[in-house]
Amino acid sequence: MEKVRGILIGRMQPFHNGHMQVIKKILEEVDEIIIGIGSAQLSHELKDPFTAGERVLMISQTLVEEEIDPSRYYIIPMQDINFNAIWVPHVKMLTPPFSIVYSGNSLVKQLFSEEGFEVRQPPLYDRLHLSGTEVRRRILEDSNWQELVPDATAKIISEINGIERIKNLSIKEISDL
Ligand code: NAD
Repeated sequence: MEKVRGILIGRMQPFHNGHMQVIKKILEEVDEIIIGIGSAQLSHELKDPFTAGERVLMISQTLVEEEIDPSRYYIIPMQDINFNAIWVPHVKMLTPPFSIVYSGNSLVKQLFSEEGFEVRQPPLYDRLHLSGTEVRRRILEDSNWQELVPDATAKIISEINGIERIKNLSIKEISDL
């Protein structure tokens, strides 16, 4: 029987427990998940500190830690393009065929539903705390960011000196004002 594939696209700056929970939920509904790493061209900015490759590492190491069968997922970085109207074909060009789009992002939902895809809104888990913005804020304030991300992701952030990077970016962006 043909496999049912779903896609979840996110900046994952960084990957956090909300992303992980949503991936597990999607895997209950489809045979395979495509995890699209959005804005792959961006890094070394306060809002987008990590490279696409570093984000691949966070996700792949976390999925290993979570013992998710590697035949059930694809991790694919995707650059933004300037033209929203042709973003969906751009995404399709980069990925295996899929039929269901999972997103809480209103622009993503609109663009895919206009192209005839089934769009599902996954549940939001503790959105107050489980967001990339909150993780980056806590890193800057030296408060407990580790509890918001999977252990394997926290390990990668430390290994790549991510904490120091975010702090340096904050100093740079303030001095650029
Ligand atoms: P994100 O990392 O904030 O979120 C990704 C997804 O994760 C969300 O849709 C949501 O379903 C899920 N999620 C996040 N927090 C959660 C939580 N606490 N609980 C449960 N689920 C949670 O990323 P995003 O901003 O939605 O990413 C969209 C990407 O698509 C961006 O990179 C954007 O640039 C790209 N995009 C590009 C174009 C273009 O190039 N023209 C157009 C549209 C979108």
